[in-house]
Amino acid sequence: MNAVRIHQPGGPDALRYEEVPTPLPAEGEALVRLRAVGVNFIDVYHRSGQYSLSFPAIIGQEGAGVVDSVGSGATEVTPGDRVAFANVPGCYAEFATVPAWRCVKIPASWTFEQAAAAMLQGMTAHYLSHTTYPIRQGDTVLVHAAAGGVGALLVQMAKRRGAKVLGTVSSEEKAQVAREAGADVVINYIRTDFVPEVKRLTDGQGLPVVYDSVGRDTFDRSLDCLALRGMLVLFGQASGRVPPLDPQVLNAKGSVFLTRPSLHHYTHTREELLSHAEEVLQWIGDGTIRLRIDQSFPLSRAAEAHAYLQSRQALGKILLIP
Ligand code: NDP
Repeated sequence: MNAVRIHQPGGPDALRYEEVPTPLPAEGEALVRLRAVGVNFIDVYHRSGQYSLSFPAIIGQEGAGVVDSVGSGATEVTPGDRVAFANVPGCYAEFATVPAWRCVKIPASWTFEQAAAAMLQGMTAHYLSHTTYPIRQGDTVLVHAAAGGVGALLVQMAKRRGAKVLGTVSSEEKAQVAREAGADVVINYIRTDFVPEVKRLTDGQGLPVVYDSVGRDTFDRSLDCLALRGMLVLFGQASGRVPPLDPQVLNAKGSVFLTRPSLHHYTHTREELLSHAEEVLQWIGDGTIRLRIDQSFPLSRAAEAHAYLQSRQALGKILLIP
């Protein structure tokens, strides 16, 4: 089969499209013929060496396709099923072996592109807003990169839970996307310092929660936006890794909480996985939540897809088509 591998960390040109053996499903696994593959920031962290891997490695964590065969003991799916999944390594390829319990069956009316686009970012927005900090009716919350893949879904879910949503973005075009997602106030954080804006909008009180996926460029100021005992949910590092922190800072900022969650730890059983996936699929399916697909690239052009994701121009999900 054809796959995209990296042999050492680097820029987008470290991604090599090459022929590799087609894997076989082990016990409890399904072999899935991939029809659409999600491109996510975690793939950039793997490619660039921010998250370590053993090489050579097929990167990619999310896909949708058709079950080709199953290993012994795989009970959740059968050959021919249309499925989608996330948090599974080795997805930039024509086939991937997937723990069968991680497969979610795709509604008949869905395309593979929609399913691959919904899983990772959708479940992330869901666990962040429902489990990490369960947003309450009347909360005011801040979502950074509010026009991004996770960001725009998180804004919509926060609105659904009854929050007032403040969103940050880097351009006017993205401000429009964030507003369409439902953000009540959009701040261009390139031009405006968001801390005084948050203080002004909350009568100096600050916020119960800030969702920060930008990392290095926003982290300190996100802490400054919190109310007493508020929570900073640092769930990504699109601008770079946050330097080490003295825990005393959390005291000085008002006994605030800091968490660095990962989707993996919020979907570590099938029951938990389905508790997030089923609502995401239902809401996207019935139009409650809008999914934006920005662009699809052939799998062989994964390097272009990465350069595009890192360019900050994307207005929604980026996909690879094997
Ligand atoms: P996005 O589509 O949101 O793209 C990232 C966004 O980050 C950009 O659109 C950009 O928005 C903003 N950004 C700020 N600084 C930079 C920079 N220096 N370079 C590039 N982008 C920058 O990507 P995803 O939706 O795929 O992922 C969003 C974040 O969520 C990532 O950090 C990812 O790691 C994280 N994530 C975490 C998960 C978890 O469980 N912990 C799971 C899934 C994703 P703008 O131009 O408006 O600033």
